[in-house]
Amino acid sequence: MLLVVAAIGFFGILPGLADRTANVAAPGPYAASERAVALVQSSLVIDLHADSFLWGRDLLARSAHGHVDLPRMVEGNVALQVFAAPTKTPAGINFERNSSDAADIMTPLVVAQRWPLRTWGSLRERALFQLERFEEAAERSEGRLRVLRSRGDLDAFLAEREGDPDLAAGLMALEGLHALEGELESVDRLFEAGYRMLGLAHFFDNEASGSSAGEEKHGLTELGRAVIARMEELGLTVDLAHAASASIRDVLAIATEPMVVSHTGVQATCPGPRNLTDDEIIGIAELGGVIGVAYFEGAVCDTSPRGIVRAMRHVRDLVGSRHIALGSDFDGSVTTVFDSTGVPLVVDALLEDGFDEDEVRMILGGNALRVLRQTLPE
Ligand SMILES: [Zn+2]
Repeated sequence: MLLVVAAIGFFGILPGLADRTANVAAPGPYAASERAVALVQSSLVIDLHADSFLWGRDLLARSAHGHVDLPRMVEGNVALQVFAAPTKTPAGINFERNSSDAADIMTPLVVAQRWPLRTWGSLRERALFQLERFEEAAERSEGRLRVLRSRGDLDAFLAEREGDPDLAAGLMALEGLHALEGELESVDRLFEAGYRMLGLAHFFDNEASGSSAGEEKHGLTELGRAVIARMEELGLTVDLAHAASASIRDVLAIATEPMVVSHTGVQATCPGPRNLTDDEIIGIAELGGVIGVAYFEGAVCDTSPRGIVRAMRHVRDLVGSRHIALGSDFDGSVTTVFDSTGVPLVVDALLEDGFDEDEVRMILGGNALRVLRQTLPE
């Protein structure tokens, strides 16, 4: 009996409880100005990072917890959400120093959610399964949620959405090259499955790249260099979020395509190894890349819309508004002061800070669109 009760707790309650405690937002509706709401409703909105497919939630149904689902994307006029797949979380996770050998605390979540057996011991399978969950949701949505794989998909989706604002799309991204399991061929495997963006690292150093929270914080390895070259050949966008400074330097020296930093802060407004230095921001801008500013404390220190805009203002003053994007980190085990429907709050803070409407539209989605159109395969 006790075992049954424990099993019900483990399989029935734990995943929902983990989601509820990890992904917290102040509930809407939010007090934004009419002008900000109108600006968001008439702009293309793209967010560069959410970990929504890690959790058990149905993305087609509106949830009272978490940050992203289809109804909230539609209400908030978020046209495109980049969905990222984390595949391993080290025990004792922190922003300073995590061992690559630390126990993986994602495994209990994977088991408790009854993911297929093949995902229990394989990080690559965990990545592939999260894409399958996205595809399954898209299939059930009867066309309302799309999986984008090419520039053609993106352009066709945007054209169709002009006449039907209830449509939303996603693009699949990986959070950390440890999921390659040391194999260059995994890049092709993930691309063929439908992945279109790869983040170099998560919270620990891996076989291809150092992490800003790793032990060595090393640069690109030989495998890492080959991965970057292969990604540019295939049309996979490079994501420098969580990468060690040495690794960012190495990528900037060899990359020819613009990249994203999908969810980050800047050290000028929120110091710490997780966030970008001015030299990194300048190097990324020189290649035409965009910096997605995240909404959680470790990125912006002050999670109010004004605090988020302070990071954006710094990027603007350094390299211009062309290099700023939204990079919430929604559903990434973070607490934020709004969910997918709250982007108008950021717009109010941008307008108050003196950004003009053209700049606001670029930040909301124009800049991210420019990079995706340049990096996605035809
Ligand atoms: Zn992250």
